[in-house]
Amino acid sequence: MDSATVCSNQTISKIKKENSQEEPDPSSRRCSRAEKFRFENYPGLNQKDWNDWRWQIKNRIHSLEDVQKFIYLYPDEVEALKKSAVSITPYYTSLIDPIDYFDPIRRAVIPLPQEFVHSTGESEDPLNEESYCVAPNIIHRYPDRVLFLVTNFCSVKCRYCTRSRLVDCSKEKTVSDVTSWSISLDYIRDHKEIRDVLLSGGDPLTFNDTVIEWLLTELKKISHIEMIRIGTKVPAVLPQRITSRLTNMLHKFHPLWMSLHFTHPRELTPEVSEACERLADAGIPLGSQTVLLKGINDHVEVLKLLFQGLLKMRVRPYYLYSMDPIIGSSHFRAPIESGIEIIRGLRGHTTGYAVPTYVIDAPGGGGKIPIGPDYVVERNDKGVIMKNYQGNIYKYIC
Ligand SMILES: *Cc1c(COP(=O)(O)O)cnc(C)c1O
Repeated sequence: MDSATVCSNQTISKIKKENSQEEPDPSSRRCSRAEKFRFENYPGLNQKDWNDWRWQIKNRIHSLEDVQKFIYLYPDEVEALKKSAVSITPYYTSLIDPIDYFDPIRRAVIPLPQEFVHSTGESEDPLNEESYCVAPNIIHRYPDRVLFLVTNFCSVKCRYCTRSRLVDCSKEKTVSDVTSWSISLDYIRDHKEIRDVLLSGGDPLTFNDTVIEWLLTELKKISHIEMIRIGTKVPAVLPQRITSRLTNMLHKFHPLWMSLHFTHPRELTPEVSEACERLADAGIPLGSQTVLLKGINDHVEVLKLLFQGLLKMRVRPYYLYSMDPIIGSSHFRAPIESGIEIIRGLRGHTTGYAVPTYVIDAPGGGGKIPIGPDYVVERNDKGVIMKNYQGNIYKYIC
């Protein structure tokens, strides 16, 4: 079951009553899973506050006691929660099944004791980002483009986050983020070979519009920058942030691309659909990045639903990542073979646009390396013998 949860008559009449008192918003007439959750858990709260992204950030679920208000916790989860902080927006909490231990959203954000197990090959910074860090917040791994980590703040802490070492959800953002940018910007200005700047973190969309606009304006002034990208999980975990005010502002900075982070088809709610629609209508090409996670999404049918669902929202699946070997991540790592088989199960079986590139971000800092099924049976100077998606053999002569 997903967001199309059936609403009780009582809930529907409540929505109707509330809508009649507030500014009309046709999208709010549906009863999403999040809205049901709001009525049940925040009965006094009005829709306007719930839909305010600042309210969502301020009211993030942080502690064991907080989590227990909304979902039943199993003993190993309690044990892990006593030792580590969580951060989940109320909206994203609404997507968690309150009793299912294997619920994919639960497993993405609620810790397990396995997180404290350090397995071989794991490290704090497996991609060796620190050594490619050429200026504050700038990772310069590829010659023509940089990763600009504009903040350590994220609205939700994913247990599998590749930047767990940096991400700090406990604090609000500080001015130091913004003041340190001037040196980062100097680096970009001084390096004319950089044509593409990828803003990530943390999550860049947790800044307010004014700050984002200032940063984009500064980047836009640099003549060798051909394009800007924003990497964000906000549309999935805090869709309320994607206001028309934001998208109207972003619209001025084209070519601006966005990489959204999605994990499971259960994330594709009416709220997320609306957020993606706003972004796409603002002319922003949308890609998605997904981490292959054992027990969460490592199944071809699950990922097919996710990728096809994303296409309906005009989001093009871009990368499927194998899990980076951060410390305490062995319970998330699916075998490489299962990633390859998933791609094999997609290619030819669904829209080509729904097939992302499966990559391993090379430990040590080699960048993203594509891994995929091999369709070539034999190749020589006369041509190539290939297998199609159904396993049939074809010959191409050249
Ligand atoms: C992923 C990544 C990029 C962008 O890679 P693309 O393949 O161009 O999307 C750039 N810099 C770093 C350090 C990265 O990890």
